[in-house]
Amino acid sequence: MLLSNSFTGELRGIFGDALVTDPAECLAYGYDNSRRQAQPHAVVFPTEHAQVAALVRACRAPRISLVARGRGTNTTGATVPVDGGVVVSLERMNRIVKIDADNRLAIVEPGVLNGDLQTALGAHGFFWPPDPTSSPYCTIGGNLACNAAGPRAVKYGSCRENTLGLRAVTGAGEEFRCGVNTTKGAVGYDLTRLLIGAEGTLAVITEATLKLTPKPTAKATLAASYADVAAATAAVARIMAQPVVPCALEFMDDEALRLARAHAGDAIPNAGALLIVEADGDAADLPRAVEALCAAARGAGLLDIRTAKNTSEAETLWAARRALSPALRTISPDKINEDVVVPVSRLPELIARLREIAAKYSIPIVNFGHAGNGNIHVNLLPRDAAEHARAEAALPEVFRSVIALGGTLSGEHGIGLAKRDYLVDALDPNALALMRRIKAQFDPDGILNPGKLLP
Ligand SMILES: Cc1cc2nc3c(=O)[nH]c(=O)nc-3n(C[C@H](O)[C@H](O)[C@H](O)COP(=O)(O)OP(=O)(O)OC[C@H]3O[C@@H](n4cnc5c(N)ncnc54)[C@H](O)[C@@H]3O)c2cc1C
Repeated sequence: MLLSNSFTGELRGIFGDALVTDPAECLAYGYDNSRRQAQPHAVVFPTEHAQVAALVRACRAPRISLVARGRGTNTTGATVPVDGGVVVSLERMNRIVKIDADNRLAIVEPGVLNGDLQTALGAHGFFWPPDPTSSPYCTIGGNLACNAAGPRAVKYGSCRENTLGLRAVTGAGEEFRCGVNTTKGAVGYDLTRLLIGAEGTLAVITEATLKLTPKPTAKATLAASYADVAAATAAVARIMAQPVVPCALEFMDDEALRLARAHAGDAIPNAGALLIVEADGDAADLPRAVEALCAAARGAGLLDIRTAKNTSEAETLWAARRALSPALRTISPDKINEDVVVPVSRLPELIARLREIAAKYSIPIVNFGHAGNGNIHVNLLPRDAAEHARAEAALPEVFRSVIALGGTLSGEHGIGLAKRDYLVDALDPNALALMRRIKAQFDPDGILNPGKLLP
């Protein structure tokens, strides 16, 4: 598909110099963290809502594909412009419009970086709960479109639980606001939750009203090491079955621990598995919370449980946890990183099943992640072409096992291109048919992020 001169002229009229058509300059906007790549024909950089609305309308008549892009950190190919067309990079719509402490909300443009927002909110004594590890370099728009989250989701939820309203433009060029400015609302269908996690296939988000949470005044971090993964995952279920909700409950298997020790040395225990358990709240209440979490963490297979003495000890644990993802790339530049999720009580079975699959296909699999949500990053690590082929062959078995355990394909990364073809196994056929009809309502010509999410 080549862009006609009249279409390019129309884009020039909307964007002036904020339009790029040189293939070399467009290249950088054709890939994402999935390491997939396709060449867009043009990239535009809106600075306001009206430009996005004009852009969608301009693309609609000639049916030019339009891919919204934050910072391209997603892992599923969700921003790769497989049909070429126009990439709309929201990076210049990066204003924090308002922080309203009285009403516990912030209004932001989609290109604001998650980390920048957290810094700004911190000065007001608040935070926005979604905390992907990529926080310093991913956008709120990208977070919303993927329903991103991180360790805090176990207590505070993901984007869906922390967003009050949105402003957006559908694929038909209709501009709309949805949701509320209040912390309650019972009026009509919840289009806000529908757009969150839609991966830019229904509408381009141009503004978000986010629900804020007061920052806790105190935090305690525990490291509980276990003889094996079965003991650790059984402890996760015990922790989640008692009333004190941890604000993080992270799991690392033995292989992940070996890598973490390479990063942080003896600060990481030499064990069969590790849980990082965090509690937050008022300083006065924290000791009771820690006691309850420790009691639940104790059980068969526990080797050691200790509380970080200070923030620097806690930070060492978290730095090792954060280093895992990049460390795996050094073992396998082509690592396949899934983020499956199962009910917490089924975690022991999931990990056992993953070990069987690793043995059957003879490929290393390293597991770690947000165990409190049952959300495990399953990393298949092929080191050569033969292992890569075996890893690809193992994937359907991983997904089938997850679904058989009552889980689903993704807890936070989304579907994109990478998992699109597995969706039929994960969704009720009637629900999938409804999703297709919703897509047709929002984007009748299929111009928004084509080829993503829906098989
Ligand atoms: C090192 C690393 C660590 C990570 N850790 C986590 C983690 O802990 N948790 C987690 O959930 N994810 C994690 N991710 C994945 C990724 O950072 C998140 O999915 C993030 O939300 C993507 O934001 P982005 O700005 O890069 O969006 P992009 O990758 O640019 O876009 C992602 C999707 O959002 C759509 N989109 C972007 N902006 C808009 C908009 N304004 N309107 C409509 N659609 C839009 C795109 O079309 C695409 O479908 C990690 C990634 C990396 C590289």
